[in-house]
Amino acid sequence: MHTVGDAAEDPAREQGPVRPYLDDLPMELWGADETAEPRSDSPRRSWWRAVLPVAVALALVGVFVAVLPSLDDTDSGSPGATLGAGESVPSLASIGDNRLLRSGTVLEEVRCELPELGSDPERLRAFYDAELRCLERAWKPALSRAGVEFAPVAVDITDDPATACGELPPSDEATGLYCAEDATIYLPRARTLEAFGLTQEAHIATLAHEYGHHVQHLSGILDDANAQLNRYPAGSPSDLELGRRVELQANCFAGVFLASAVGRGSITDEVGDAAVDDFRNWIDSDTHGTSETQRQWAARGFRHGDAGDCNTWRAPGEDVR
Ligand SMILES: [Zn+2]
Repeated sequence: MHTVGDAAEDPAREQGPVRPYLDDLPMELWGADETAEPRSDSPRRSWWRAVLPVAVALALVGVFVAVLPSLDDTDSGSPGATLGAGESVPSLASIGDNRLLRSGTVLEEVRCELPELGSDPERLRAFYDAELRCLERAWKPALSRAGVEFAPVAVDITDDPATACGELPPSDEATGLYCAEDATIYLPRARTLEAFGLTQEAHIATLAHEYGHHVQHLSGILDDANAQLNRYPAGSPSDLELGRRVELQANCFAGVFLASAVGRGSITDEVGDAAVDDFRNWIDSDTHGTSETQRQWAARGFRHGDAGDCNTWRAPGEDVR
């Protein structure tokens, strides 16, 4: 059974509770995600700022209506704004120039054999480990061709993990997170099971998205984006839009992975389609975009199978709302 649906957009889908945010923003860079309450009138807490070891901050707070940072401003070829320390920062356009985002960055075709999903720790871990191996096999050659040095990432499903990025946010604010500092994806078992049950495609999509953040980290996109973020006040429209460009790109990378695996092994055509559609179950937010936008970027990656089509940094503002 699919646990969640968006009846307003797809009457055929079963209606259910809106899924809380997964995720993940790599805490050392972005903080964790999101409240379970869609469109809260209260500013979201910026708890992660207190725990982040580096001077970053994608503010995920605020209830501002998104107003777009002008790509014209940042695309002008200027060396970028100046940080307090006087460092120049990459422009949005230069982030989009990342070599991983050149067209033709197609992943290796992989056959994923995933064990049956189960709620006990061993089976859940086995499922994630199997998908993680698929993700690595799919991404590693493409990263290599793009000149990006590969490094593995671990998945931790313990319910009270000690992370290099500090404590996890409360469960109603985040289901999981990616921590670049210790190269670990944290998907606490109790949280994921509460959010997804045993809906296979939801787990597949979520891990693929989190792995997308790892790819962003390896390729330097996160560091560049982070430098850009320092230009804007926390929670400002530009700050929020930058965060959406990060998140939507991770969705697109997840779609690219699914394209590399669909039609073989456990990722049947049906499972692949369901995993892409699963992104519409992520709630609307200023930090991640509308649920439809989130699905669209996953679908874009899935349709083209090319990371070069995941260039949220060069996408018009209306595509990242
Ligand atoms: Zn994310």
